[in-house]
Amino acid sequence: MLNIRVEKTTNPKIKPDFTKPLPFGKIFTDHMFIMNYTEGKGWYDARIVPYGKIELDPSAMVFHYGQEMFEGLKAYRNEDGECFLFRPDMNAKRTNATNERLCIPELPVEDFVQAVKAVVDIDRDWIPTQEGTSLYIRPFIIATDEFLGVAPSKNYLFMVILSPSGAYYANGLQPVGIWIEDEYVRAVKGGMGFAKTGGNYACSLAAQEKAHADGYSQVLWLDGVERKYIEEVGAMNIFFKIDGKIVTPMLNGSILPGITRDSVLHYCREKGIPCEERRISVDELIEAQNSGKLEEVFGSGTAAVISPVGKLRYKDDVYTIGDGSIGEFSQKLYDFITGVQTGKIEDEFNWRVKI
Ligand SMILES: *Cc1c(COP(=O)(O)O)cnc(C)c1O
Repeated sequence: MLNIRVEKTTNPKIKPDFTKPLPFGKIFTDHMFIMNYTEGKGWYDARIVPYGKIELDPSAMVFHYGQEMFEGLKAYRNEDGECFLFRPDMNAKRTNATNERLCIPELPVEDFVQAVKAVVDIDRDWIPTQEGTSLYIRPFIIATDEFLGVAPSKNYLFMVILSPSGAYYANGLQPVGIWIEDEYVRAVKGGMGFAKTGGNYACSLAAQEKAHADGYSQVLWLDGVERKYIEEVGAMNIFFKIDGKIVTPMLNGSILPGITRDSVLHYCREKGIPCEERRISVDELIEAQNSGKLEEVFGSGTAAVISPVGKLRYKDDVYTIGDGSIGEFSQKLYDFITGVQTGKIEDEFNWRVKI
């Protein structure tokens, strides 16, 4: 159990108008959580302080070799003022899987969850209640040793910042266009694809720029060796409905194990919907599309929850999925998951955590 010192702001910010569309990740709340780590001493000085800038030495290791990790989850508030998190223990466990890969010290699961709950509780008035809105939570750890040598840092900061965010799609669930990337790769087996760390994103930018320039909103990555098997989308896992069956690439070390992905699979298994985690090649996908068996495509991730895909580009061809509008199953999943998250429907799988 952390002993969290709280220093409240004496100068609260003016909140944005939550009834107007909110930008993603640009507005931050009044407070933030910080805790230090030093080798031999462990994690210490857990505190909630007014949101603001932090000072680091230019030689801090995170700036040079990228030893850092992050997480992403959301808090929701219903009309009765009750606040909820969605499966935060999963983010805490994934934090430690990432930490292990990046030689960052372990952060106890209970401490992670306690820190998130404490800072969200203090800024609970910042959780918007409008349909599709939430408070985005960004926990992260950075290496702070003042040293240019290549070695695991002996000092770290764990922080949690909060950002009220609007509906991911301004006009409801709009299908997106996806660019299947056949030149750049994101991760390879043995690398850090399964870890949530900035380096994976730094190496994704060039392909994303290419996709954006062509009018596609996201990149679909293929495996890093043969560029033949489907891995995942930018910040989402990917699902296909082929001939009535839900198919997603299996976790192979280079794919990020999404919590939304896990929730979709759990839902399918509990509801008796046929689903498979397996290798799926881009050739198989195109064959399914050409024979009319590719019924739906959607991404899954905390930010968008379920994101229908209406269009796929691969090399010189463009494929329209179904009639280009949202699929029936994608919509059903979105309604179920967001219903549980916001407290509108029964929490039959015990995913909701009240603050
Ligand atoms: C965070 C992330 C996801 C989605 O994970 P969720 O836990 O469902 O939010 C998928 N892919 C990548 C690369 C990610 O960073």
